[in-house]
Amino acid sequence: MWLGAHLTISSGLPEAAETASGLGANTFAYFTRNPRGGSARLIPPEEVSAWQEARTRLGIGPTVGHMPYTVNLAGNKTSVQDFARMVVADDFRRVESFSGEYMCLHPGSHLGDGAEAGIERVVAILKDALPRSSASTTLLLETMAGSGSEVGASFAELAQIIDQTGAPPTLGVCLDSCHLFSQGYDFTTESGIERLLKDIDQSVGRDRVRAMHLNDSKFPLGSHKDRHQNLGQGTLGKAGILNILRHPWLSTLPLVLETPVTDIQEYAAEIALAKSWLPSA
Ligand SMILES: [Zn+2]
Repeated sequence: MWLGAHLTISSGLPEAAETASGLGANTFAYFTRNPRGGSARLIPPEEVSAWQEARTRLGIGPTVGHMPYTVNLAGNKTSVQDFARMVVADDFRRVESFSGEYMCLHPGSHLGDGAEAGIERVVAILKDALPRSSASTTLLLETMAGSGSEVGASFAELAQIIDQTGAPPTLGVCLDSCHLFSQGYDFTTESGIERLLKDIDQSVGRDRVRAMHLNDSKFPLGSHKDRHQNLGQGTLGKAGILNILRHPWLSTLPLVLETPVTDIQEYAAEIALAKSWLPSA
């Protein structure tokens, strides 16, 4: 099982690998650039080779980068779209330069113009900025909670984006257990998970789904609110999280915690707790 948490690569990729390993993790997430959308750190070739050595030695599996929240591909201003186009292309190149497997993206907010208009703008940018042929990196569209004017709050919308972009091999989907619970998928019941799998199979297809953000939720089922909670302490609870950890397909995805902590060292206890719930782990 690939289990980890959202860390940082600001001190370097090899350091992030060591930190992950120290926390009991074998995967991790990181912001591809400053989370508020600013500058990107250049990753020199020496760092890439040290990273490859460290991840092999420590057994780090597929990593899941995250693009900054401030990038809005569905925005209606030209300056916002130009910035998003630049960041998608630039972050993809940089993540690919160190063979980072995945980078996650919130499709964006249509700002009241409607889902169709938002999807059209997202597709236009992805067509420009994303390589069409297969690469070592895949951009993952995240399943959103559906608050405000968020694009991507249903599998149908994500499937529409992928299809209209021409379904390149460089485009996939990242699940988020908190956001999906907020959409109405009940992880605490077998029927809730069955409905999730059926909806995935009938829209984007399981092959496109490559990672999952493993978060509990502060709000009830179907709330359309995006507030993460620590594992076992929210509305999914131990039962909901354990259903994911034990699921024959969901548990094969890299599972990355984005739960609230004041210090990333706190993830050691939360990862240990999740592992302790599994029989004979
Ligand atoms: Zn996210």
